[in-house]
Amino acid sequence: MANSSPTYDLVCVGFGPAQIATAIANREARKSCNVLFLERKPSFSWHAGHLARTRMGASFVYDLATIRNPRSAFTYVNYLLARDRLVEFANSDRLNPLRLEFEDYLRWCAEQFKDQVRYGNEVVGVAPGGGEGAVGWWNVAVKDANGKTSVIQARSIAAPSPSDKRDQTPQVLTNVDFLAGQRIVSVDDYLSRRSEIWERRETPLNVSVVGSGQKAVEILDDLLACPRLGNITMVTENQALAPLRILGDSAEPPSPQLCSIWASPASTQKSTVTDSPALIQSIYGRGYEKQVASKGAFTLRVVIGSDATEACSKADIIVSEHVANKLSSSGLFHGLDALVLGCRQKGESLEEVQFKRGAVSANCRMWLLSAHSEGGRSLAKDIAQRTGEIVRALTLAVDDEGRERNGTVIAARI
Ligand SMILES: Cc1cc2nc3c(=O)[nH]c(=O)nc-3n(C[C@H](O)[C@H](O)[C@H](O)COP(=O)(O)OP(=O)(O)OC[C@H]3O[C@@H](n4cnc5c(N)ncnc54)[C@H](O)[C@@H]3O)c2cc1C
Repeated sequence: MANSSPTYDLVCVGFGPAQIATAIANREARKSCNVLFLERKPSFSWHAGHLARTRMGASFVYDLATIRNPRSAFTYVNYLLARDRLVEFANSDRLNPLRLEFEDYLRWCAEQFKDQVRYGNEVVGVAPGGGEGAVGWWNVAVKDANGKTSVIQARSIAAPSPSDKRDQTPQVLTNVDFLAGQRIVSVDDYLSRRSEIWERRETPLNVSVVGSGQKAVEILDDLLACPRLGNITMVTENQALAPLRILGDSAEPPSPQLCSIWASPASTQKSTVTDSPALIQSIYGRGYEKQVASKGAFTLRVVIGSDATEACSKADIIVSEHVANKLSSSGLFHGLDALVLGCRQKGESLEEVQFKRGAVSANCRMWLLSAHSEGGRSLAKDIAQRTGEIVRALTLAVDDEGRERNGTVIAARI
């Protein structure tokens, strides 16, 4: 199997509004891909039983196609035309469709993709495929309505984002610019990567440490002992590390407001080093020695409660307490934790999963997709556009069949 192509370019988990938008974008692509939709429900439905005589939160323009392609055959306007209600809709003087009618619009769209959807099929797991080297495809385990399980191979996967935000580990590193060539090392992997970080280089590496726990602080202390490193930045919410203020400076230190992607879960937010003055002393002592030895070229910077993304923007390597990934919160992807770095948010409705360098072939992608907007009760306005991006990415990959794209994104990561 190692040399053969996976059966599908893309397997989509579910056939809700977001995936219907994907199906539409694919059909309208210059070169459409081989896509399969696996939906656990026996037939299409959209919140059946919850459709009161209320209206959608947004205008009909934010349907599954218009924003990406106003000339699409799947626009709400075209649906109204097909139902012979276009003029009446216009005369009703309301831009927001009735929810009941929107459900019919979604069903009308869904019916046009019958041949690509397997209803009554639940995806129960996703595992890497492709033998010893980089993952070359995904093995998607599917349980049909009779309880029989089979495996489908897909080059890429789009799955619904986990819906209950409360169950998620905090989003981490999503704002770090993966394209900028930053490499991210988990605090748990620091020891095994230490010699690589410490090694002599022509241009000294700038390193950022992100975290508030004991481990992160100890790593900071250790990094400061390395004379070959450049600037070292600590981004933390640990007030025990707050830099000393100039005497007489009346300004209050900024209250810790780490943006949510860096924030620790509430249970681990407490400082764990407040009672280790020797460690703090060592850190500031070593930081000062560094400044003196490098004649001011390199410094230690401690950033409390400011935008961590900016603070880390010049780092060549980021050692982070949380290299968490959203996939962990979805049972389907438990087996992939070791491959995943994090998720990169694109607009309101799309996240692209970022994999460790060399772990996954550049043609093998994964997206989390949701038509939910922030509040969870209305469709995301950019869904048509974002699903178009998925299809575009697939088309690029398919065009380069057998050859890796020049994936700078992938190459930049550890
Ligand atoms: C009761 C209720 C009312 C709502 N009313 C509105 C409204 O009036 N207007 C509005 O704009 N939004 C409303 N929403 C928000 C709604 O969630 C979104 O509009 C939209 O349905 C989200 O689309 P989606 O494709 O991201 O997810 P979903 O609609 O949840 O679609 C995901 C699909 O994937 C399938 N699936 C999931 N896991 C698997 C698996 N492992 N294997 C196979 N299939 C799987 C699910 O069965 C589902 O069909 C409402 C939500 C709820 C809960």
